[in-house]
Amino acid sequence: MTAEAAADGAGAGRGAGIDARFGAGRFAPSPSGDLHIGNIRSGLMAYVRARQTGRRFLWRIEDLDRVKTGAAESQLAVFTELGVTADEEPLVQSTRRDHYAAAIDRLDAAGLVYECYCSRKDIAQAASAPHAPPGAYPGTCRNLGDAEREARRGELAEKGRQPALRLRTDNAAHSIHDELLGEVTATVDDLVLRRGDGVFAYNLTVVVDDSASGVDEVLRGDDLASSAPRQAYLAGLLGAARMGWLHVPLVLNSDGRRLAKRDGAVTYQQLRGLGWTVADVFAWMQGSLGFDDAGPRWAGIDDMVDQLDFDRLNAEPTVFVPPAGH
Ligand code: GLU
Repeated sequence: MTAEAAADGAGAGRGAGIDARFGAGRFAPSPSGDLHIGNIRSGLMAYVRARQTGRRFLWRIEDLDRVKTGAAESQLAVFTELGVTADEEPLVQSTRRDHYAAAIDRLDAAGLVYECYCSRKDIAQAASAPHAPPGAYPGTCRNLGDAEREARRGELAEKGRQPALRLRTDNAAHSIHDELLGEVTATVDDLVLRRGDGVFAYNLTVVVDDSASGVDEVLRGDDLASSAPRQAYLAGLLGAARMGWLHVPLVLNSDGRRLAKRDGAVTYQQLRGLGWTVADVFAWMQGSLGFDDAGPRWAGIDDMVDQLDFDRLNAEPTVFVPPAGH
């Protein structure tokens, strides 16, 4: 289906042209504070991609960690002001712990889960396996006997801690195909499923939730591209459907590093405070994505849906120089 056909769809109103056969896309911010213009750009692109391909657009609140009170509501409110709402109620990760536990149980029943007693320091100090990428888990706890496990568990319990749970992988290189980056390959090491503090790990929750929501294409910042092979690997073990991937370039600060809040006026609220309008936000999106010469000025989300062409996306990271205050 073309974007036009999708947009024509069943008539006026948000959700026109949605065809469940085409699955879903999503935006899944962590509610740790206000989103900056780079995060917003990725979220808008996820929405545009869903609209152009006839997918539902879903919103997930990844609130298992680093939560700031009110941030999730504020993030949603910004997108509403920008003309974007999700096609379903947001999925809230903190309400879904049973599902993550059930996924671990299934992997465990297949002999693919083991307890890990290592601290970060232990892992950093352990000699890594030959050819393992830097930071990969060296496998310290992979093959311990029952008595040893009992002892290590006891040592942790004395410190008031519990073991992490890791996935027993094949420790081999795996690839995914990304629509924008091509082949992305990474070694899938024995990743954490549940952390030592009891929090379900990001890679597990993303895979469980995307699968449960029918997400069949993920668009997100390219800082997460290297996580995609491990997520695809885990999805395969859990019997989830194959995923399409688009990892989009990040917005950087003037030092060439990933944009951050300390860089100045970078959130929607701050930019609005400096006089930016919704149309200014979309005009900036148009320029930064490389569509300045592609037609009329973007003034809102509908222009972005009409004119953003993923085949012609500016592949270079964009530098954002925050405007100075009054
Ligand atoms: N919650 C993650 C973040 O804000 C994104 C997860 C994902 O898109 O897979 O960085």
